[in-house]
Amino acid sequence: MDQALNILRRVFGYEAFRHHQAEIIETLLDGGDAFVLMPTGGGKSLCYQIPAMVRPGVGVVVSPLVALMHDQVTALKLLGVRAACLNSTQDRETQRAIEAQAKRGELDLLYVAPERLLTDNALALLDETPLALFAIDEAHCVSQWGHDFRPEYRQLSVLHQRFPDVPRLALTATADRRTRAEIVEQLDLKNARTFVNSFDRPNIHYAITDGQNARERLWRFLVNEHPDDAGIVYCLSRKKVETVAEWLTAKGREALPYHAGLPAEIRERHQSRFLREEGLIIVATIAFGMGIDKPDVRFVAHLNLPKSIEAYYQETGRAGRDGEPADAWLAYGLQDVITLRQMTLQGEGDALHKRVAHQKLEAMLGLCELITCRRQALLAYFDETLDAPCGNCDNCRNPPETWDATEPARKALSCVYRTGQRFGVNYVIDVLTGKADERIRRNGHDRLSTFGIGTDLKATAWRALFRQLIALGYLETDAEGYGALHLTEKCRPLLRGEVTGLRLRRMQKRVKADIRPMDSEVSELSAEEEALYDELRRHRNALAEAQGVPPYVIFANSTLRGMARRRPLDREAMARISGVGEKKLERYGDEFIDLIREYEAPIT
Ligand code: ADP
Ligand code: ZN
Repeated sequence: MDQALNILRRVFGYEAFRHHQAEIIETLLDGGDAFVLMPTGGGKSLCYQIPAMVRPGVGVVVSPLVALMHDQVTALKLLGVRAACLNSTQDRETQRAIEAQAKRGELDLLYVAPERLLTDNALALLDETPLALFAIDEAHCVSQWGHDFRPEYRQLSVLHQRFPDVPRLALTATADRRTRAEIVEQLDLKNARTFVNSFDRPNIHYAITDGQNARERLWRFLVNEHPDDAGIVYCLSRKKVETVAEWLTAKGREALPYHAGLPAEIRERHQSRFLREEGLIIVATIAFGMGIDKPDVRFVAHLNLPKSIEAYYQETGRAGRDGEPADAWLAYGLQDVITLRQMTLQGEGDALHKRVAHQKLEAMLGLCELITCRRQALLAYFDETLDAPCGNCDNCRNPPETWDATEPARKALSCVYRTGQRFGVNYVIDVLTGKADERIRRNGHDRLSTFGIGTDLKATAWRALFRQLIALGYLETDAEGYGALHLTEKCRPLLRGEVTGLRLRRMQKRVKADIRPMDSEVSELSAEEEALYDELRRHRNALAEAQGVPPYVIFANSTLRGMARRRPLDREAMARISGVGEKKLERYGDEFIDLIREYEAPIT
């Protein structure tokens, strides 16, 4: 362990281990297996990187994303770690050289994609390689319930059968129980020690707004909160991705589309620009993001409802990996609810799969319509208890207004009933508001007792009410066509008048200017420090561009902020800044010290 701590300080430039890092590393050094559940940004990588460096032999890292391996390896090399990756984009000669290094045990870390690792060639290579450990990153890819499912992951148990003495480490940021159990089962980790970290991401502010004018709301959010920050906007369809990216760009924010329908080289270019440049927005389907290591994503916005809380948590978790304040912002509307309901009903798979998908969507909708602390509900979903409301979500900071919707809800439900449970929302609203168009007259619905009983509310208010009634399970929609509404069992007591005081969220009329969280000391620099920080950042970005690496690979923003605050004027002081290890000090220390010194010098 002394050696591990020494590496943490010397190579990575960090003072102490965080969370369970020390115990995890110790388990592996003792030859045991470990299963690590830690939220994004928690510091999973060090858990296998350090033991791979301490133990003799090569640490083999299974990682699903070839595109990102390269950046990981580059970052390690800059720290002076002997790391390499094997993938299909390399020429044969490069591959051979790396294989030879591995066999001679001259590498600390070797990153390999799962499909490659399972080939006879690769397994034969491992037979001849001294092995320090196996790390299986993004281990939730074994789960067929999640959207990151990778069939090859299911075969990774072969590693254990073939190399029973090599310690293994599985890591994931996915917190739900079903997935955990599946990982243990599929990867044969019954004897592994499990380390569960709190899944709370206190630096992320959660806000969910209803989706009327979602784009305009998004725009205001960007202008007010993130005028020049990098972020991700998630949409459901490829087409919407393209139109939203164009729209943002036309309004003056550079936004790049990313979805599975784009040619690979465009996807790669956009991803790489997002990682390397500052302040870009990626508009994407869920195809984007797994393993995105960019630490300074300041917001994740959803223009559509995610299918489950797991998906929502994973996608929003890509914001603020660096621990600094970040926003998770979601707008959702009636059409989202209907579309997703239909998708889960029509989707592939057997009845059990559909039922699970349905339950997950219900839980997500419940989160949206919640009037109490979002974080408490999120953590409770993952079996964690947060004792007090968090103070850093929309409901905590700006408690939603509620109204007694019992009467209008009764009207809405009985109108669905009287029109025969054969029509979609828009039709029912037309009947409620007394719009006697041709279709309604043809059906004789202008003679119903519920015709025109809802003129006291506007159509938009009715849409919000219907959304909530669907979300809360009073109404269901058909799997096919325009989503005809029908009543559920839950309606009975309400229709019979046994339930009173159905309180619902009032629709947000205007987006109030949000108050920023004050609790983050990390981001508070004085004006003078801020100016120096900008200077340091400019320099770091220029270095990154010249070397063709993402800026954070050189120094993280938080490291630069540490420099701006503490102004180290010699190497010794510089070495004490968190994130400055030996190699970085040697390579970049002097030029950053010079910058700080210039800044200190009085202007003559
Ligand atoms: P994860 O893979 O869990 O999302 P990373 O391994 O990328 O997280 O770590 C997140 C950030 O925290 C990285 O910038 C990493 O260097 C930093 N970090 C990890 N462990 C420590 C530590 N003990 N002290 C300080 N910073 C750390
Ligand atoms: Zn809260």
